[in-house]
Amino acid sequence: MYSLRFQLLVSALIAAVGGATAFYFHPTFLLSVAILLGAVLLSYGILYFFVYRPLLRIQRVVDAQEDRASVERFIASSSEEFQNLSVSFNTMLESFRTDISRMRKLEGVRSEFLGNVSHELRTPLFSTQGLIETLLHGAVDDKKVNRDFLAKALNNIERLNSLLEELIDISRIESGEMKLRLRFFDIVPVLQAAAADMQTYAEQRRITVTYNGPTDAPLEVFGDKERLRQVAVNLMENAIKYSEKGGTVTLTLTSTADRAEIIVKDTGIGIAPQHLPRIFERFYRVDKDRNRDVGGSGLGLAIVKHIVEAHGSNITVESSVGIGTTFTFSISRTGVE
Ligand code: ADP
Repeated sequence: MYSLRFQLLVSALIAAVGGATAFYFHPTFLLSVAILLGAVLLSYGILYFFVYRPLLRIQRVVDAQEDRASVERFIASSSEEFQNLSVSFNTMLESFRTDISRMRKLEGVRSEFLGNVSHELRTPLFSTQGLIETLLHGAVDDKKVNRDFLAKALNNIERLNSLLEELIDISRIESGEMKLRLRFFDIVPVLQAAAADMQTYAEQRRITVTYNGPTDAPLEVFGDKERLRQVAVNLMENAIKYSEKGGTVTLTLTSTADRAEIIVKDTGIGIAPQHLPRIFERFYRVDKDRNRDVGGSGLGLAIVKHIVEAHGSNITVESSVGIGTTFTFSISRTGVE
């Protein structure tokens, strides 16, 4: 494209040539042609000084060829329209910068997420592959190990399955696809059943799980029954997982006029203060080696936090190493957050 200055000059030249031609053929037009030419030159001058030059300076500002002080002096001395234009440019520039840094951050989060996912999937997959290969190479006939290897392979597959379920949950939450089905329901039987479902797992690990709350009177809350059950189960599973033999896990339900409070307390290994602010992050685990044994993916608490927050509430954690951990959250009884 031609520059603005070039276009203005060409218009002026065309007017001048037009005027000269008219004068050559009809001298009586001299005066009007002279006025026309003068007007064209005058408009060129006005356009040059008041439009082209300020635009050129704006271009320099955009190209960052001028220092900030001179840019600000220029803006302050220019007309209101240019000041508005500069404000719009600045706003546009800021929003571009924010968009770009958000995109960069997302890109980083995405690749970190993919890295974590592949790492989590690879461990149980490789382990299952190794077990099956060993069985195929003869261990299948060795009565001392064959059932044990198969049980381990099954365990890995169950771990893969629960990891996939958690990944699906996280991706549905983050894409906004997970919609809560909010309604009034009695939370007492839901929590009692959740605690009862924990018994087999707790017995395997020699842990006692107790429900501590109303038993015969209903306690209506406003929330998503299935998702809140999932939260209670997840917190109790963790409480059992991160406890030593002989520990206790208590699921407490209390209420005020407008809220029900749910507390999951354990007498387990606890979490050191420096880890507490990060345990709700995706894939964050305090002790990765220990988690290998107990089968954690680091997604559970991220899902729990999302669900509780989607209910307009917060989840808090208190913990002391070697003494135990307590997670607390509350749910509305009235439908008002
Ligand atoms: P994971 O699948 O690893 O259990 P979570 O997101 O549920 O992942 O928990 C994140 C980390 O927080 C765990 O790896 C564990 O280190 C710590 N954690 C969670 N709950 C407890 C608890 N009740 N006691 C001690 N540590 C816990």
